[in-house]
Amino acid sequence: MSDFPITGCYYYPNSSQHQQCSASITGEYLQLIDSQQQVILSSPLADCQSESPLPGIASAISFSEGGRFVPQDIHFRWPFAPDKQGLTERLEKNKALILLSIILTPLLLWFILYRGIPAIAVYSVSLASPSTVENMGEQALTVIEKVALEPTMLTEDQQSALQLQWQTMLKQLNLDAAKFRLSFYKSDYLSANAFALPHGRVVVTDELVKLLNDKPDALRAILLHEIGHVEYQHGIRLTAQAAASSIVLAVIFGDLEGITEVVLGSGSSFLQQVFSRDMEREADQYAIEKLITLGYSSHDFADAIEALQTRLDEKAKLDDSWLEYLSTHPSSQERIDYARQYKPK
Ligand SMILES: [Zn+2]
Repeated sequence: MSDFPITGCYYYPNSSQHQQCSASITGEYLQLIDSQQQVILSSPLADCQSESPLPGIASAISFSEGGRFVPQDIHFRWPFAPDKQGLTERLEKNKALILLSIILTPLLLWFILYRGIPAIAVYSVSLASPSTVENMGEQALTVIEKVALEPTMLTEDQQSALQLQWQTMLKQLNLDAAKFRLSFYKSDYLSANAFALPHGRVVVTDELVKLLNDKPDALRAILLHEIGHVEYQHGIRLTAQAAASSIVLAVIFGDLEGITEVVLGSGSSFLQQVFSRDMEREADQYAIEKLITLGYSSHDFADAIEALQTRLDEKAKLDDSWLEYLSTHPSSQERIDYARQYKPK
C-alpha cells in the first residue's frame, strides 16, 4: 500500500498557483516535498480530507488551510480514506447496479413528470389566490383575442337575450355572476366553438350560437359543460402541470430560456390545451346534473354533441380543417350515449 512518496500537484489555497511535488507520510503527518527536498506543507493526517474516489478520477486530498493535492496516478487511493468514501466508487463499479440505474432513471423521470408534478400542480392550484387566477385568465383572453377572435356579429337583441338566460341560469345554480361572465366573439379560426378560461369567463363563438339557434337548451348544455371545467379547475390544473413539467425538463436539459416561453406563452398554449378524458367526463357529468337540476333533460346535452358531430362530419367531407369544438373534445358517440342513458341518482 505504501507506494509513497506519490507524485502529484499541489494547488495553493485561493489561488491558481500550483506546484509539482510528492507526498509522503511521516508518522502522523502528511508532507508535501518539492524537487529540492523542501517541505511545502506538513499536515496532521487527521486534518487531511480525501475526496470521494470516483473511477477514472484521481483522488485528491484537501487540507484544512484550503490547499489541495492531486496525485498523478488516477488509481492511487489514500490509505487513511474512511471506508464509506469508497462506497460511491464501489457502486460505480457494480455492473448490476449500473444496469439497474439505467432502467430506473427514466422510470423515475416518468414518475416525477407524470405522477409527482401533476399531484403538486393540483395541490398548488388550491393555493392560488382568486386574483392570480383572474389576472392569468384575462391575460390569456387578450392573447387569444389577438390570435383567433373578432368582434361578434350577433345583434344586440340576440346578445341580451342570451345574457339574460345566462344570468337566470347562474342565479338558479347559485353561481357567482361576478365570476362567470359570458362573451361572444366571431371566429373563423375556432368556428362553432366554446371555451372557458380558468377564472370563469366563458367564450362562445357566433358560429356556435348560429348552429344551436333553434336548440337553446343544447347551447345551455354546452355552457354548463364549460362551467364544469371552471368549477373543477381543469384549465388551471393543466396550465400548472404544463408549466411545472416544462420547468423540470428545462432544468434537466439545461434549456432555461424555455421557462420564459412557458410563462409568457400561457395564452396561446391555452388554445391548444386539450383536457384529459377524465376531465371531459367530469365536465359532461356536471353539465348533465345541472341540466336536470334546472328542470331540463340530459338529452339536451346529447343534442348539442350530435349537432356538433354532424357539423364536423360535413366539414370533414369538405376537407375543411377548421379547429372545431369536437376536435379538442373526445369521441362523441360515447358522450351522446352517456347523456341519452343518464339516470339521475
Ligand atoms: Zn370540455
